[in-house]
Amino acid sequence: WFKAWVVEKTETGQSLAFKDFDDADLMEGDVTVRVSHSTVNYKDGLAMTGKSPVVRRFPMIPGIDFAGTVETSDHPDYKPGDAVVLTGWGVGETHLGAYAERARVKGDWLVPLPEGLSPAQAMAIGTAGYTAMLCLMALDHHGVNPAQGPVLVTGASGGVGSVAVALLARAGWHVIASTGRDSEADYLRNLGAAEILDRAELGKPGKPLAKERWAAAVDAVGSVTLANVLAGTKADGAVAACGLAQGMDLPTSVAPFILRGVSLLGINSVTTPQAKRRAAWGRLARELDHDKLAAMTQTVPLAGVDTVAQAILEGRVRGRTVVEVA
Ligand code: NAP
Repeated sequence: WFKAWVVEKTETGQSLAFKDFDDADLMEGDVTVRVSHSTVNYKDGLAMTGKSPVVRRFPMIPGIDFAGTVETSDHPDYKPGDAVVLTGWGVGETHLGAYAERARVKGDWLVPLPEGLSPAQAMAIGTAGYTAMLCLMALDHHGVNPAQGPVLVTGASGGVGSVAVALLARAGWHVIASTGRDSEADYLRNLGAAEILDRAELGKPGKPLAKERWAAAVDAVGSVTLANVLAGTKADGAVAACGLAQGMDLPTSVAPFILRGVSLLGINSVTTPQAKRRAAWGRLARELDHDKLAAMTQTVPLAGVDTVAQAILEGRVRGRTVVEVA
């Protein structure tokens, strides 16, 4: 038996409890991991509260990412004692997840803990920070660079946003951080933001094409905000879209694409192939300033996850939250 958060299906939706879970009920996998740290991402908030149908198997242990130590392994790449990290692959959605002292998963889903990061730092980065790196890599791959103009980050005080601001500033970009929280302006400047933009400016319906203001963007918000981000992107610029904090919809037109040659780059962190995963983690270990990572991170015990899950959906969590499991 081990301690875990467990989501059960009920007649009216789902229930959530922190309780003992039987080892025998773990799902199939060739590696068993003693989880030491996890995190709270936006998707974890959705899964724990049931606000969106993220959980698709019951009972479910929520938690989409973890760091820990291999206990047993039938996978050729891993042996007991190895430090590992997991993000995505449906863990916490269709496969029993991270908010537990133990996880059994496919070894193919794991990456070795990147050199230079502790398990706690890896989870301070977590799925959100890893996704911010995938956004940066997509912009790099597209060929857009700081000489072409500023980069905009939406949802800047959140998890993806905070890591994106720090990484882009270090890469030489003039970062415009869009936030709804005035109180976080100093926090964002300390992470490297050069300008703060009130998110209200981007949050209401605008014109199909607006004044060209940024050469690139990382968008964690979607909906009307993403439409306005596209409308304000300079000719031949690119926008990496990864989130839906404002909504799933995208009320835009083809104007930015066909009149300005703007590109919309989709980011999916869940099923990223191994080689790209390892490349992203390697870059995070080298390029994310440890002091900035610490400045954007709070820590909670496993038993406190439910409170943070609720708060993140209400936009009340700043930066990243590490969950101490062990
Ligand atoms: P988070 O910490 O809650 O950050 C989201 C931020 O968006 C909030 O901090 C807030 O920033 C802003 N926001 C919230 N509600 C908003 C609204 N109604 N209108 C405009 N802005 C709003 O969440 P996260 O973990 O960083 O994730 C961010 C988004 O990326 C989520 O939608 C998540 O599902 C998505 N995501 C996708 C992938 C992928 O693989 N594609 C991976 C990770 C995350 P301010 O207070 O600064 O305005």
